[in-house]
Amino acid sequence: MSNTAFKVAVLGSGISGAVCASTLARNGVSVTLFDSARGPGGRMSQRREKTEDGKELHFDHGAPFFSVSKPEVVHLVQEWELRGLVAEWKEKFGSFDFQTLKFDNLEQEGLSKRFVGVPGMNSICKALCNESGVESKFGVGIGRVEWLEDEKLWSLIGVDGQNLGQFKGLVASDKNIVSTRTAEVTGRLPPLDADLKLLPELSEKLHNLPVRPCFAVMLAFAEPLSSIPVKGFSVKNSKVLRSAYCDSSKPGRSATSERWVLHSTAEYAENVIAQAGLNKPSEVTLNKVAEELFQEFQSTGANISQPFFKRAHRWGSAFPATSVAPEEKCLWDRNKRLAICGDFCVSPNVEGAIHSGLAAALRLKDISSSCL
Ligand SMILES: Cc1cc2nc3c(=O)[nH]c(=O)nc-3n(C[C@H](O)[C@H](O)[C@H](O)COP(=O)(O)OP(=O)(O)OC[C@H]3O[C@@H](n4cnc5c(N)ncnc54)[C@H](O)[C@@H]3O)c2cc1C
Repeated sequence: MSNTAFKVAVLGSGISGAVCASTLARNGVSVTLFDSARGPGGRMSQRREKTEDGKELHFDHGAPFFSVSKPEVVHLVQEWELRGLVAEWKEKFGSFDFQTLKFDNLEQEGLSKRFVGVPGMNSICKALCNESGVESKFGVGIGRVEWLEDEKLWSLIGVDGQNLGQFKGLVASDKNIVSTRTAEVTGRLPPLDADLKLLPELSEKLHNLPVRPCFAVMLAFAEPLSSIPVKGFSVKNSKVLRSAYCDSSKPGRSATSERWVLHSTAEYAENVIAQAGLNKPSEVTLNKVAEELFQEFQSTGANISQPFFKRAHRWGSAFPATSVAPEEKCLWDRNKRLAICGDFCVSPNVEGAIHSGLAAALRLKDISSSCL
């Protein structure tokens, strides 16, 4: 039965927020989703770049792929596959060892299924945010949320001070909405700061969540790098490079150029941030990172020509280093109808984020049914 009077606000259109919003909407709950970014996806975004001569290039600069094993997540991914939102990335994968200077484990690493969004990693979130019953607002950052005790409602205020409405339920799907690290980076308190103090149990779990950073370097080549025997590999024994994936070999991508995305190790990213600071990195820093990761890629010994496009992106909070709700899958305050979800609740990957978004939707769906 539809319960449009039970309005829920979902903060964040990454995969956990998008799954939560669409699951609630399918169950008749009225959902408004807000994201400070221009489009959906969060760490499953796709980056659009333009070369100097006006060529458009797309890169999955966040998660390159994901794998699933939990039955409820497998079920959802099968549905997305039928809708053409995801496809299996059927290529050869392996690892490269800087000690032996060899590509290895080609068979072994190819065993687990790798899924990608089609035509971009953000396609899944995009489709979920457009589902009937979900009203999505992009470019709208939430500056503050307040619990109105008399009305028993959540009030949302934008970063520019704009009143964004009142809601019976609230889903916060980014650790920055609740973590004190936000203050370190932006100088502003996290949006849920004041109200979390009223929820000491949740507040304690979320205090200063540790995260690991990563740099992604996007490269485009005029010719295929045919001397690399795989389309994606993890790296052993490098302090700089963690993995490299050939973006243009994924299903549904344009084949007009060969595009690779390199990921740095967390250790390398932490060192750069220690020197350059937490603020937005300068062009000089990004160019230096792009060059250092590219040089490490070249030192594999494969025949790698100069790319016609090379750019770095910093993910300050690429991977949560802890799981705050491995059993419950999300944090939940029934009295205030507040769910906190995201990969930091379960595991630092897409599957963990989906699982958490589903759990948050279940809590709010149950309570909305009891309000009918
Ligand atoms: C470089 C990199 C490589 C990765 N590799 C893999 C991999 O191989 N396999 C895998 O499974 N996973 C991988 N991951 C991890 C995976 O991307 C994440 O676990 C998953 O996407 C997290 O989803 P989420 O919904 O929890 O959070 P997010 O995607 O971070 O979504 C949170 C959203 O909230 C929004 N938001 C934040 N604050 C506000 C505010 N105040 N107001 C409004 N909106 C706000 C943000 O803009 C963002 O869109 C990788 C991640 C990175 C960065």
